[in-house]
Amino acid sequence: MTHWKTILKNSVTSPAALAHHFDFEHTALEATCASFPMRINSYYLNLIQSVGDPLWKQAVPDAMEINDSICIPDPLAEENLSPVPNLVHKYPDRVLLLVASECAMYCRFCTRKRKVGKPSMSINKDTLDAGIAYIKENTEIREVLISGGDPFLLSDAKLDSLLTRIRAIRSVEVIRIGTRIPCTLPMRVTKELVKILKRNHPLYVNTHFNHPLELTPEAAKACALLANAGIPLGCQTVLLKGVNDAPHILKDLFLGLLRMRVKPYYLFQGDLTKGTNHFRTHTQSGIEIMRQLIGNISGMAIPTFALDAPGGMGKIPLTPDYVLNKTKELSFLNYRGVRCSYPENGDPV
Ligand SMILES: *Cc1c(COP(=O)(O)O)cnc(C)c1O
Ligand code: SF4
Repeated sequence: MTHWKTILKNSVTSPAALAHHFDFEHTALEATCASFPMRINSYYLNLIQSVGDPLWKQAVPDAMEINDSICIPDPLAEENLSPVPNLVHKYPDRVLLLVASECAMYCRFCTRKRKVGKPSMSINKDTLDAGIAYIKENTEIREVLISGGDPFLLSDAKLDSLLTRIRAIRSVEVIRIGTRIPCTLPMRVTKELVKILKRNHPLYVNTHFNHPLELTPEAAKACALLANAGIPLGCQTVLLKGVNDAPHILKDLFLGLLRMRVKPYYLFQGDLTKGTNHFRTHTQSGIEIMRQLIGNISGMAIPTFALDAPGGMGKIPLTPDYVLNKTKELSFLNYRGVRCSYPENGDPV
């Protein structure tokens, strides 16, 4: 099997280079790449079947990225919520620590598009030391989410040392890693990597698949290696116009993930990130998709549909409304649209 570093080195990083593989008009896309970097490694490139397919749309720059007059660079106000560089403290008991600036592929809809893969995203020993010191000082932090960029692009030695340092903090109960590697470069999940992760339990991995075509034998193998090491796996999918905004696609994705022992965790409404407006759906369309899935497939396969409120206000679950009437006799429409009811027990206190 080709080494993951070779696959990564063989990335297509310009529209002109992509034109050697596909027949499309590439000159208009060079300007987009000057603003937002492009990287499609040879594994993910091989999954793309045709120009404009759901994987193409996730990976290949679009001229609309630089003609986005609606959205803003940092809608989640991450920079304002950073007490030290590359650490976001939004919720009382957990923080987000950005430990890597690169990804195995640059997703066109990335919420951290303003900095991922760019020189301005500077992560070094000093910022990591400051982040770890902050976590140590703030003992209300129970959980550390390690993200980036992609943490699994760090070397084994760097990741090992980072995890060991975080694990040594007594107030930290749970470590959660966010990575798209099982989807975009599954060969990076090696036995050696898994050995390092396993030493730092309780450790969770949340990965990120958006389309059933990404559920390959290679991805299944990466997830099996992780799951066999006792690592609970979740998935954070992003709802993307023209990629996965249809009930049958998400049904196949979520059921396929369950078969790979990955629990769908969140389905995210698109953020207001500059350069991604063309992927945004209407919230109602996501709610309707959820309505078609809930009850019809295993509850294990149902993620929470949520939007991340602008300004760093936190995640807001968006749920179909089943309640018809809120009197003493609550009435609902069930998943099949049949009316039903439940008598309340007295008045609320
Ligand atoms: C999403 C997010 C979290 C984690 O939220 P959960 O609902 O626990 O998954 C933590 N911190 C930041 C800054 C986030 O954006
Ligand atoms: S892997 Fe995640 S952080 Fe990296 S470009 Fe894709 S969405 Fe953004």
